[in-house]
Amino acid sequence: MTNEMQRTEIAVIGGGGAGFFAAITAAERNPRATVTIFEKSSRFLSKVRISGGGRCNVTHACFDPAELAGRFPRGSRELRGAFHRWQPRDTIRWFEERGVALKTEDDGRIFPVTDDSATVVDCFLEAAREAGVRLRTQTAIRGITIAPDGFWLRMQDDTVTRADRVFVAPGSLQSSLIGASLRDLGHTIEPLAPSLFSFHVSDGRIRGLQGISVSRARVRVLPKSGPREGPVLITHEGFSGPAILRLSAWEARRLQALDYRFDIALQWLADHTPESLRAELASRRKRSGDRKVKNTPMEGIPKRLWESLCRVSGIGESATWARLKSEQERALVTELTGARYSVRGKTMNKEEFVTCGGIRLKEVDFRSMESRIVPGLYFGGECLDIDGITGGFNFQSAWTTGRIAGEAMVSGGQRS
Ligand SMILES: Cc1cc2nc3c(=O)[nH]c(=O)nc-3n(C[C@H](O)[C@H](O)[C@H](O)COP(=O)(O)OP(=O)(O)OC[C@H]3O[C@@H](n4cnc5c(N)ncnc54)[C@H](O)[C@@H]3O)c2cc1C
Repeated sequence: MTNEMQRTEIAVIGGGGAGFFAAITAAERNPRATVTIFEKSSRFLSKVRISGGGRCNVTHACFDPAELAGRFPRGSRELRGAFHRWQPRDTIRWFEERGVALKTEDDGRIFPVTDDSATVVDCFLEAAREAGVRLRTQTAIRGITIAPDGFWLRMQDDTVTRADRVFVAPGSLQSSLIGASLRDLGHTIEPLAPSLFSFHVSDGRIRGLQGISVSRARVRVLPKSGPREGPVLITHEGFSGPAILRLSAWEARRLQALDYRFDIALQWLADHTPESLRAELASRRKRSGDRKVKNTPMEGIPKRLWESLCRVSGIGESATWARLKSEQERALVTELTGARYSVRGKTMNKEEFVTCGGIRLKEVDFRSMESRIVPGLYFGGECLDIDGITGGFNFQSAWTTGRIAGEAMVSGGQRS
């Protein structure tokens, strides 16, 4: 360890998940470094506290770096290598070594066994204190300038502090205090857009059906987008659930450009094509010809939704499978495998949402998270043009980028 490394002053801008992970890593790796987290609000880790509906979905049980990276509409290519360095398995070990037992739910999401995000917050605060990280709340940084011997950080009250290395982790750059300063340093901010939202749909077919969900649906934006599969939930306002949130993430920029007014094609039965469905209906005609259509829903379709789809397909209360007319069958097949709905607005998902867009990824070296433009400046977390689908991927990206930067900031580098 050189004397220079021992003296390193590290400033972390933002006391969220990425900031804490980087600060703890750096301070544990080099106890002689001075690591300070500057947090603008009066509380650290606010998003961790409210995350996952107060339970904090810390990561996802997906342990293959390539598959994991595939869950990121933006940042996938860059994160692939980074996940070879720090992935969910490492996250799980990190928390368990610090006394936070985790559990995996059926859908792969990982939570603390306490089902309480306070467990995660307390773990970070304790680990930071033990590692000697200095914690400053109500200290917003509004400017970063390059000095001959490092950086000057300007606070909101115009006082300044010096640092050898700076980790920038202020979260979303939407109305950020330091966006302008980052641009002045030569960085590019890719256009920002909300991601992970549900769709406003006012349509007689789903009116009064809020709370009903279909577990294997498929949905896409018309006229053309990749389809997204998974559960779809009918809400008071329209549609939500994993398939909708996934679509909102993959199409975040396009839907913003459409001002959230667009049409979707909803296939309630993801496993059926119109042909396979017609074959199934023909078999029902043979097997259960005298049974009422209304009383015999297709597997996977809740009864009240089925009744509504029968009604809009012109199928009367007393119609039996044997007496189903061809135009009624055609309408029912369309409703089940390619129904069109108009979306007119959005609501952010309460359990998890993120901003798409941020620092251009080409400007960052993902082996260290150091800026390719300003040596000594590092980035991590949501301020980067990275965002994942819902399920613990966004925190994993914060932990991974924070970890890599935390290690790099105390292992040499160009500016000291
Ligand atoms: C309601 C909600 C629930 C979520 N739940 C989950 C979940 O369960 N699982 C999951 O994977 N993801 C979840 N996410 C996403 C996740 O919270 C983010 O991806 C993650 O918090 C990003 O971490 P970060 O450290 O980059 O940013 P943040 O957590 O936003 O932290 C940035 C911090 O920097 C501070 N700051 C900003 N500017 C300055 C400045 N100029 N000077 C000093 N401080 C500054 C902010 O006050 C903030 O405390 C959720 C998001 C929301 C909104």
